[in-house]
Formats: sequence, C-alpha cells, structure tokens
Amino acid sequence: MTTTDTTTLNATPPIKSAGSVAHHEGTPVALFQRVQQQFERAAEMLDLAPEVRKILARPACEISVTFPVRMDDGRFETFTGYRVQHNNALGPFKGGIRYHPDVSIDEVRALAAWMTTKCALVDIPFGGAKGGVQFDPSELSRPELERLTRRFIYALGNNIGPDYDVPAPDVGTDARTMAWIVDTYAATLPPQDRHRALAVVTGKPVSAGGSVGREKATGQGVVDLIALWAKDNNVSLSDLSYTVQGFGKVGFWAAHTLNKLGATLIAVEDITGAVRSTEGLNADALAEHVRQTGGVSGFPGAEAISHTEFFEVTADVFIPAAMENQVTAETAGLLNVRLVAEGANGPTTPEGDAVLRERGIEVLPDILCNAGGVIVSYFEWVQNRGGASWDAAEIDRRLQEILASAYQRVMSVSETKGVDRRTAAYAVALSRLEQVYEERGIFP
Ligand code: GLU
Repeated sequence: MTTTDTTTLNATPPIKSAGSVAHHEGTPVALFQRVQQQFERAAEMLDLAPEVRKILARPACEISVTFPVRMDDGRFETFTGYRVQHNNALGPFKGGIRYHPDVSIDEVRALAAWMTTKCALVDIPFGGAKGGVQFDPSELSRPELERLTRRFIYALGNNIGPDYDVPAPDVGTDARTMAWIVDTYAATLPPQDRHRALAVVTGKPVSAGGSVGREKATGQGVVDLIALWAKDNNVSLSDLSYTVQGFGKVGFWAAHTLNKLGATLIAVEDITGAVRSTEGLNADALAEHVRQTGGVSGFPGAEAISHTEFFEVTADVFIPAAMENQVTAETAGLLNVRLVAEGANGPTTPEGDAVLRERGIEVLPDILCNAGGVIVSYFEWVQNRGGASWDAAEIDRRLQEILASAYQRVMSVSETKGVDRRTAAYAVALSRLEQVYEERGIFP
C-alpha cells in the first residue's frame, strides 16, 4: 500500500479514519445475531406473523466479489467486496458502501438488516442493503481509491441499479466515491440508457446530480431528533452540553449544527485520541485541525483526555458517531449524560443497553436517530428520477417532518406498550413490513 491522500473536495474533514475509534472490548459480538435478537424482541411483543419473522431472519441475497486493482507502484492487489441485499418488500434495496479494515460479511449483513428496519420505520419506499470492502482507505492514494471503486462497481454489474439496489456513502466513502460509481455504472449501459445511471447511487456531489443537504443530512437528522427530545424534556438547545465520538461526516455535521444552535461541545474522541474543553470546542476549527493532522488529538486549546475520561465527561447528551460496539456494559457504566443519541449504526451492545436502562439514561436508537441520511437519499433519488431540484429549505422541512412523525410513532409505542425505545422502533418497522406482506401475499 502506498501514500496517504488527504485531499478532499469539500469543507468537511477527510473521510479516512476520522469517523472511527479504535477501542474494541473483548470478542466482537456477532453483529447479525444481535440484529436478529432485536428483531425477535419486537416480534414477540407484536406477535408478528411467523412467515414475516422467517423472511427477515435471513438476507434475500448476498454477493461477494474478488477483484484485482492496480496499485500506484504497478503491483496488483486483490480485494474482496460484499453487497448484502436484506429485503426489498417496500422498494429497491438501499444502503451505503463502507470502506474500513473491520468490514466483514457479518457486519455488512447486520448493517443491511438495519437499513431494512430504518427505511420501514421512517416509512420511505426502500428496502435494506449494505456493501463494503475490507481495507483502510487512508492507506490508498486517490487514484488507487478510484480504481478500486470502479473495479468493485464493475464486478457488481447489474446487481445494483436505480430501480433495484441503490448504494450511498457510509464510513470511508463520500460524494467523490459516488461520482465514480455513477460514471462506472453508466459505462456499462448502452449509450441511449446512460442518462438512467444518475439515480444508481445517492449522496453524489451536488454538481454531479446530488441533492443539496445530503452531505449534512445524517448529522442534521441527529440534531432534529435531539431537538424533539429537548422540547419534550424542557431543555433549551442553547443550554445543552454534549460530547461526540467520531468526527467524520456524521459527528462533524451534528456538532457544527448543534454549535450553531448555541449548544456546547465539551469533548470529542476519534481514532487519534480524545480532547476536552469545558468552555466548548469550536466544531469548524476542530474540523480544520482534523483535515490538517488526520485526527482530533493535539487540537490547540483543548485538554487531552483518556478513553475512560472521555466517557466520564458530564454533559446532557452523548452522540456516538463512529463504529459499532462502543457503548458496552463497561463504558455505559461510565457515562454521565441524560441521553445517548445514536448517530452511528449499532454503537450500543445489548449489555450496554441493559446498563443504560438500569441507570435511566435515555436512548434515541440508531435506526431512528441516524435515518436523516437515507431520508435525504430518498429525496435525491426522487429528484433524479423526476428531473426536479428542491432547495435547501424544502429539504430541511421535509426531513424534519418525516423524522418528527417517526419520533412520535416510536414514543407512542414505547409509552403504550411500556417498552424501551429501541424495541418500540423495531416494532414500528416490523409492523410496516408485516402490513405489506399481508396485503401482497407471498408468491406463489
Ligand atoms: N450509510 C447511511 C446509513 O447507514 C446512508 C444510507 C443511504 O443513504 O442509503 O444510513
């Protein structure tokens, strides 16, 4: 592997590993098994139809491709990429593509299943999928990343498509990656069909058919949800203090948006370490530091703290916006916050969840809290297919509306059934899926 390329096209920090943290405790939980347990808990409560349980227990399709990539020094390396298509009862398969050293088929399966529930919960007409390639993007140059992306998409061939399976950015990928995907996919179509290629992915650069507001959408959605929670709890956003784990796309945009609303960012942790300032950290200056140095560590004016100290910081809200399995029984026991707003997918282990419940720490579960990204992806797909262009105010308004209604549904099930919000969120999603299977029946 060769040089590190930190070139970015936009104002956000480099994608590489800035959104990740390195702490994994014990043996990694089999992630897909965890999703199945979450499904089961909600399915029991709902008395969900057995056939729907069975269908959702396994992904509909799993694709694994191995392909060669020419590296800058002329050598060839082979890479293995996955696309797991979990369910498409509600619409085309939908979900991001992840580039990260920890990518595995188990992780991609879990992430695909979470996309199915996320889209069903917020009621957008998409199913769930996820893709990934196991490697560290910070170790590849930009031309290598481009060649890898193009070969991966070429290898997937017709397994993706605007009406069939629509990828998007995730950890380690961004708008630039999506632009390469459109271009590669288009090249596989006959010339007269190439205009259709635009809607094959979402999260494209705005200048290449993307939607305004897509880049900040996941972070914006996290903030919209925190605002709904704050309103219900009589907390003013200008008095709110918070901490963020992971300062990639989601962590940065959540912090940037919350700071604009007057909230105080007390501490941030990423793969390079953790920093704290009781006076508050400036999210934009921190992003600039990350762009220049590759991580939050060494940010001028902030105090360096340990992983344990980071979790112990007293604040109103903790936003995990990095990788899975970060809120464990141990770290959940350290937290001094009222709310965990899950920007990442799967940041809390079942043991961590139990400790949060015992300690009365509230949770906005991932499939609700980070759904802003896929919702604005849906807006992008609709605009591409209709040749339309919506402005930022319209995107923000529609996003807020969809999230507020999903939040209300989750709160109402949680209250009426007396269950935690994660189970309530799964229950809303599973009922939606059960409804469509009931109405359409199962072929033949
Ligand atoms: N990767 C994001 C997620 O986990 C966005 C997916 C999408 O926009 O399709 O929700």
